[in-house]
Amino acid sequence: MNAPLSLTGQAVAPGIGLGPAFLLTRERRPVERVEIGGDQVDREHARLAEAIALARADLERQRDRASRRLGEMVARIFETHLMFLDDEPAFDKVRELVRDQLVDVRFALYTVLEEYAGRFEQQEDSYFQERAQDVRDVCRRLLAQLDGERDTVLAGVPDSPCVLLASELTPSDILHLPQEKIIAVAADTGGATSHTAILTRILGVPSVVGLRRVTSAAKPGEIVVVNGNSGKVVLRPDEHELATYRSKQTEYLEFVESLKDIRDVPAETLDGRRIRLHGNIEMPGEARTLLANGGDGVGLFRTEYLVLTHSRLPNEEEQYRTYREVVEALAGLPATIRTFDLGGDKAFPGAGIPPEDNPFMGWRAIRVALDRPQMIMPQLRAILRAGAHGPVQVMFPMISDLGEWRAAKQMIARAAEELEREGVPHEADIPAGMMVEVPSAALLADRFAIEVDFFSIGTNDLVQFTLAVDRANEQVAELHQPFHPAVLRLIRMTAEAGATHGVPVSICGEIAGQPLATLLLIGLGLGELSTSPSLVPELKKLVLSSSFTEAAELAGEALAMETAGEVREFVSDAMKQRFSNLPIWFGERGETGT
Ligand code: PEP
Ligand code: MG
Repeated sequence: MNAPLSLTGQAVAPGIGLGPAFLLTRERRPVERVEIGGDQVDREHARLAEAIALARADLERQRDRASRRLGEMVARIFETHLMFLDDEPAFDKVRELVRDQLVDVRFALYTVLEEYAGRFEQQEDSYFQERAQDVRDVCRRLLAQLDGERDTVLAGVPDSPCVLLASELTPSDILHLPQEKIIAVAADTGGATSHTAILTRILGVPSVVGLRRVTSAAKPGEIVVVNGNSGKVVLRPDEHELATYRSKQTEYLEFVESLKDIRDVPAETLDGRRIRLHGNIEMPGEARTLLANGGDGVGLFRTEYLVLTHSRLPNEEEQYRTYREVVEALAGLPATIRTFDLGGDKAFPGAGIPPEDNPFMGWRAIRVALDRPQMIMPQLRAILRAGAHGPVQVMFPMISDLGEWRAAKQMIARAAEELEREGVPHEADIPAGMMVEVPSAALLADRFAIEVDFFSIGTNDLVQFTLAVDRANEQVAELHQPFHPAVLRLIRMTAEAGATHGVPVSICGEIAGQPLATLLLIGLGLGELSTSPSLVPELKKLVLSSSFTEAAELAGEALAMETAGEVREFVSDAMKQRFSNLPIWFGERGETGT
């Protein structure tokens, strides 16, 4: 047997999964150049038409199934694939190849679509690279139809529980997984914004993506451990490691089970401070997960992901239906809908944001909205209309100046006036707040606090701008430190401004979901933590086991420290000591560890 091997990737769904590997391979009849006679061209063209029709019917069935299981918006991922089937110029090329070079349709199809996928893959932008997966998925479906098979990609999943290892996972793979058999997922490719990451998070299976070589290094049936808390994957663990992980897993599962008892208990510290635990969601189906996990509402709906599932900006009606779906799922709990935060690493094609040299500091978020009212007005109208169905708040990203804030507020007033004039049902008086993610916003928090209804601190960006560290650049990833004393001071300033003016202050950057930071954040004065819905139960347990007085002391000490390293070490020691009875991961997610 080969030696054990540890790989580290990006943890995208929490928990520990351990079991025999099932390698998802996509073996099918090799695609070879098959020459045909001139009299067979029409037959090959007819085969293509039939394969497209069958694939379309199959996709429509899957879309309906996804819609029932996971909500309308996930189902729309299938629309992207359906759209490829409507790409007549691509299929014209296939037909041309068949006719001009006298090759069979299998070969022509594969050649043309591979070339498309290859072109996507060569782009720098991860969005395009992920679209290559979509094209290949469609190609596979069509080849399966040509071979007279249904899409059999997952037909080989064993009957007993297994860990799924794949080089890439497509939306249809994930939706077809027999969930009860898949213990965990590990993938070579994928980043935090990939469909794979988003969907596995919704399904709630421990998952790690971006492992680069997990499929080439593993053999079918070998034992694999996937730690969705730390991002570590171990192939062929030795007896000792296996025993350690088994006991960790049992302990974790028992812990998760025990968390069900606190689902309906309000998150309150031992000394009576209520902390709201909110969810960050990218698609409406996640609102249901949040509720099932005992969350207090949606703290951040990243609406820009709607562009991904529509491949363009959705119109007012489409947005209204989506927001309403969230509001209704939340059954009276608040939904904080953030206006499009496009640009930066979310310059999705279809949104009309041109490439820039320095996109994070470029034409982004509120700047785009103010320059292009035609883009934001339908969104604001849709949000106000959804407000007629339950509590909704609107939030603006990347505010750096009071003038921007006031202009944004005026747009809400204009949207409300229009709806009033048109007699469209809506709620004009919804709370309006802002992200605090640019240092200027934190430094002026006392001024902003006079005018806003709430703050939400976005540390992913705030750290980037405070420490001058590109959040997407792996080369400087270690310098992106939310525990930096300068960042803590900005958080503290914002929390104090909020407290003085009675403005609720939430935090929705990734750090809000790190158990390591819970006590510190509460101690800094934050009353709301907003994170991935699957992490809410763990955080609730921590809140219930903490005292605010103790948290405030810890935060006070941390604020007096000089370096990020010092703060981290101090907080980490304190948490490990204080909560040694809980099987919670107190490292940073994605960091090397067990
Ligand atoms: C943030 O910047 O911390 C944040 C929550 O927003 P996003 O990650 O969507 O930029
Ligand atoms: Mg941000």
